[in-house]
Amino acid sequence: MSTNVEPAIIVHGGAVVFPGDKKDKASEGTKKAASKGYHVLTKGGSALDAVQAAICVLEDNPAFDAGTGSPLTSEGDIEMDAVIMDGRTLNTGAVAAVKNVKNPIVLARMVMDQTQHCLLVGQGANKFADEQNVPKEPNENLITEENKEKLEKYKNSYGEAAENDFSARDHDTVGAVAIDKEGNIAFGTSTGGITNKRPGRVGDSPIAGIGGYADNNVGGISCTGHGESITRVALAYDIISLMKYSNKSTQEAADYALAKMKEKLRNAKANLEAGVIGIGKDGNPVYSFKTKQMAWAWAKNGKLHNGVNFGENNTYTITTDANGEYKFDKDE
Ligand code: ASP
Repeated sequence: MSTNVEPAIIVHGGAVVFPGDKKDKASEGTKKAASKGYHVLTKGGSALDAVQAAICVLEDNPAFDAGTGSPLTSEGDIEMDAVIMDGRTLNTGAVAAVKNVKNPIVLARMVMDQTQHCLLVGQGANKFADEQNVPKEPNENLITEENKEKLEKYKNSYGEAAENDFSARDHDTVGAVAIDKEGNIAFGTSTGGITNKRPGRVGDSPIAGIGGYADNNVGGISCTGHGESITRVALAYDIISLMKYSNKSTQEAADYALAKMKEKLRNAKANLEAGVIGIGKDGNPVYSFKTKQMAWAWAKNGKLHNGVNFGENNTYTITTDANGEYKFDKDE
């Protein structure tokens, strides 16, 4: 076990086109989340704890489609999915179609730590939350006016059924990948899915190997985008395989797998929108996306980097003010 690794974390807030002021909110939100996770790592915390802390920040931010601000099902309700994975042991825990919890990533971690299972869904996941005394957060507190309007607009323009519509919508799921001082890698992903999904629909996000993966010997990946597209190519494990067996770097593997997904699925019921973040065992954070925008931020060596538009890459020095609030001084 190595203890001299430079810790790093990368987070995403979805691969999508952010409307109006959402771009700025997503940009700020990812910076805060990456800083929070980085703080955990620099204090000697584990990659798992850093991923969980960063994702809680993103889940609590209504600018993203996870936790508070999750998109609505066709019945106007919220069903959330989340996963976390420990690259040291390959242990993983996940929940899907869960309701009335504020931070599904915390519940996913409990599934990993407290059960022998990898994934609990629906009522079973909520029963487990009750057993673990997870405080209830009624769905109505997680639903935003903006998302009610979005469902309304969606239904008006596409009709109630919309079964054959795969157009891009709210792919602002959140995710994080971290490497700690001991070289342990973890990933997490959390989402409310996509607007107007059928009740019971689960996308890629909570499935290890599809919505993300972590293996200390290779690296960690978290995906975002159209769940039905990502699922068809098992995107996360495709990237991990390219790194593991074809000796590609994390960046090469991510770029290649996303391009291949577009090519392979051109005749599928899919909108092919996706983006990924990752950290290889070399400790370098990378991102790749096939959408116009993806909100991402990563921190390493006391610096924070972030962007949303294609080609945007800002660098900041991370500091905290007297109240412990994070500040980002932009480097020239
Ligand atoms: N992948 C998520 C899903 O399909 C959506 C997203 O990434 O925003 O449920």
